[in-house]
Amino acid sequence: MRHAGKGALIAALAMLAGLRVTTQPAAPIVASASVAAISRQSDAPVSGGRSAQNANYDIDIRLDHATRTLTGTEVVRWRNIGLAPADSLRLHLYWNAWRNPRSTWMREAVLGGADFGDRRADEWSSIDLTAIALANPDGTPGFDLMAGLAFVQPDDANVDDRTLAAIALPAPVAPGAEIALRIAWTAHVPRTVARTGAIDRFYFVAHWFPKIAVFEEGRWTAHQFHANTEFFADYGRYDVRITVPRDWVVGATGLEQSRSDNADGTTTHRYVEHDVHDFTWTTSPDYVEHRQLFQHDGLPTVHMRLLMQPEHAGQEDRHFAATAAALRYYGEWYGPYPYDHVTVIDPAFQSGAGGMEYPTLFTAGTRWLAPRQSNDPEAVTIHEAGHQFWYGMVGNNEVAHAWLDEGLNTFSEERVTALAFQPNYRVERFFGGFVPWQFRDMPLPRETDINGLTGYRAAAERDELAKPTFRYWHGTHSFITYSKTALWLHTLERYLGWNTLQRIMSTFFERWKFRHPRPDDFFAVANEISGQDLTWFFDQVYRSSNVFDYGVEQLRSVGNDSGAFETTVVVRRLGEATFPIDVETVFENGERVREKWDGLDRWRTYTYARSVRARSVQIDPDRVLLLDVNYANNSYTTTPQAPTAATTWSLKWMVWAQDLLMTWAFFV
Ligand SMILES: [Zn+2]
Repeated sequence: MRHAGKGALIAALAMLAGLRVTTQPAAPIVASASVAAISRQSDAPVSGGRSAQNANYDIDIRLDHATRTLTGTEVVRWRNIGLAPADSLRLHLYWNAWRNPRSTWMREAVLGGADFGDRRADEWSSIDLTAIALANPDGTPGFDLMAGLAFVQPDDANVDDRTLAAIALPAPVAPGAEIALRIAWTAHVPRTVARTGAIDRFYFVAHWFPKIAVFEEGRWTAHQFHANTEFFADYGRYDVRITVPRDWVVGATGLEQSRSDNADGTTTHRYVEHDVHDFTWTTSPDYVEHRQLFQHDGLPTVHMRLLMQPEHAGQEDRHFAATAAALRYYGEWYGPYPYDHVTVIDPAFQSGAGGMEYPTLFTAGTRWLAPRQSNDPEAVTIHEAGHQFWYGMVGNNEVAHAWLDEGLNTFSEERVTALAFQPNYRVERFFGGFVPWQFRDMPLPRETDINGLTGYRAAAERDELAKPTFRYWHGTHSFITYSKTALWLHTLERYLGWNTLQRIMSTFFERWKFRHPRPDDFFAVANEISGQDLTWFFDQVYRSSNVFDYGVEQLRSVGNDSGAFETTVVVRRLGEATFPIDVETVFENGERVREKWDGLDRWRTYTYARSVRARSVQIDPDRVLLLDVNYANNSYTTTPQAPTAATTWSLKWMVWAQDLLMTWAFFV
């Protein structure tokens, strides 16, 4: 269709760019008709499994509550699926991010306005390896790797950062070969920071174990821990034995297999999960446990377990309903949730642990106090439950391409919230306490998150989506990653129709579940399923930070000698980005004339000869282009006698948008 020539060229270049060279010339990089077929790893599922299961963990971890210390041992069985030999390893040691103020995470957080000045010495965290060796087949320690361990800082050369370690190997690991590592460590649990740590007797233990990075295309895709971005790991089996004080409740990724009391007053809980890329657990003596079943025609049954704070009693049904809504709609739209269990954690007040996703477990809770979510715990819970699909099952690199999970998930969350919780959403979420009388004037489709739109407008030109996420300006991550992506997906839905977009997303899901897709994989599926080359669209919303702004420049109706009127409409493209847009002129006799403008030129004139004057003109009357950064200039009326509906909402809108902007809160 539009931009076909340019689009085809760019599609071809993108295809070539996707074919990265590996260090082993013989490595089979296979490209077929679609970019989606390019191999980066030998990531076919193992027999009987859903994923390649190449990063497998056997962990024993013990919590000492008095000293807030974790003592752990693990055997990591890692199979090289990265197409070329690996002559060293990379291990993430995330808890060193909060070891002192000099880590990359801390420097970035402070740059972004965070203040850690009140943190006592024992409230920082650390993770220190006490032993690392190759494991013999019987599990005993073999070749000692400790001397070959070094911290590396590929992203910023900050030598004080100890969140990523390189480990030299005595011999390379050939493609397809497996090694086992035996690691022992101690870690100090921080006062909760970034949804991790302890407050009183509440522990939320995330990103806590030495974790192997992702080896693909013959190199390590491994980054330090950054303040704004999340994680990336291969899929595997986790068998974890968690020892905590007796009678404390434990929640974790996977399902509890057994429980045994120890002589020292502790209890060991064993949890196992397959085909996940992380493992998280929590414990507290104060949790109150609730259970419900998710059942819906055509979808597998899921056991939902909720661990609530006692003071939130009475809210359990809202969490279950929101979780069930995500399982239902995501399941119907994209594909069924394949684990038969999910655990919802309601974290302790002021723990800062709310609103975060982990495999088969997520935290809801305190994030609903944030302005964005003022009255709707449902949206938070749907969002985090939804991450079981976009993040959990489709495992993109969150450090470099966070929009692939956060953006797709925000779009999906907004759709579910609008469908399942609409009455509450409309009245309370948008307008409670603000300006409820504005609702009927608001020209937005009901699925759109109004705060996201406002935030995006403020940050639109800061960064292009295509930049690696961890390199975004610190203030733009949420607006670009979440809001801009959700907005262009809403736009794409209106442009292609929901049926087409749903097939794009379900095809992308089905093809890339339990694998690691990249942005070009999504674009390739979108082009293939829609049957059109959408490169022109992705060039603008993804590869550029240009903004969309169409406006009415002029509307005039001039009478002539014969009593008729000549009407002139001038519309303008004020932003650099382009999109096909409708221009609708309404005449005094009620006649509506709609023009399809390709939106390419900087301005365009339409003239009409009619027996009556024109009353108004409206650009994009169906609100397809939700990325338009200024709606106030989209309509124009010739009746100056009284304020019209259009000008009225424009003014209210601007004031209200500024209000919201000032109360914007970061969310994950
Ligand atoms: Zn999220």
